[in-house]
Amino acid sequence: MTGLNGQRMDANVVVLGTDNVGKSALIVRFLTRRFIGEYGDIESLYTHSVVVDRREQTLNIWDAPYSQDLSSESLMCEKRVQWADGFVLVYSICDRSSFNAVSRLIQIIKITKDFLGFEKMPIVIVGNKRDLHHRRTVLSEEGRLLALSADCQFYEVSAAENYHSVLVVFHGLVDRIRESRVSVKKLAGIKGIVKSMSAVFARRRTDSL
Ligand code: GDP
Ligand code: MG
Repeated sequence: MTGLNGQRMDANVVVLGTDNVGKSALIVRFLTRRFIGEYGDIESLYTHSVVVDRREQTLNIWDAPYSQDLSSESLMCEKRVQWADGFVLVYSICDRSSFNAVSRLIQIIKITKDFLGFEKMPIVIVGNKRDLHHRRTVLSEEGRLLALSADCQFYEVSAAENYHSVLVVFHGLVDRIRESRVSVKKLAGIKGIVKSMSAVFARRRTDSL
């Protein structure tokens, strides 16, 4: 979809993370404001309208399956990066291995993005199940540091207890996606100028020969 000023108004978001971290719970919370407890594990694609800065924006949210096998995860990643405008990477604060998986996923996404020649891929890291702090095995600082080192946003939330924090995650990502579109446009503009300048110089050089 294209807006009045030519800017695309839709965004594709992939939600990824190991099993049981609460990916489906987060998405359902965002879409319906409810927490229903059990979600099954069906891969789903949701479409949702959000209003950001008084403009309606369509979000397509892919509740993606996770593969333990790193090479098939890398293979699937190419398809996902091609489709996505942004990623939500989820771990549980009570599950260290899910945190390690997020750190691997960031690397795979970055390698794939560079391989495909994409400029930017906004990523939000989410530490879920904050309500289970008595079972915490991943410190908030670890999440924050990972986000800092990978230039991602970071939030700790509880899909079970809080709608607002989940809302902030998706709105934060939508903002980043919009910013990245503006900067890509700017970059394309600069590249265009450089191209035409070098064309002028090339012509001058041949003129003077
Ligand atoms: P997925 O496999 O990543 O999609 O995880 P689910 O959304 O199916 O959630 C896995 C389990 O964790 C379910 O039993 C949820 O009820 C539970 N769960 C999800 N989010 C939270 C949360 O924020 N706090 C608590 N205590 N449980 C949660
Ligand atoms: Mg699920």
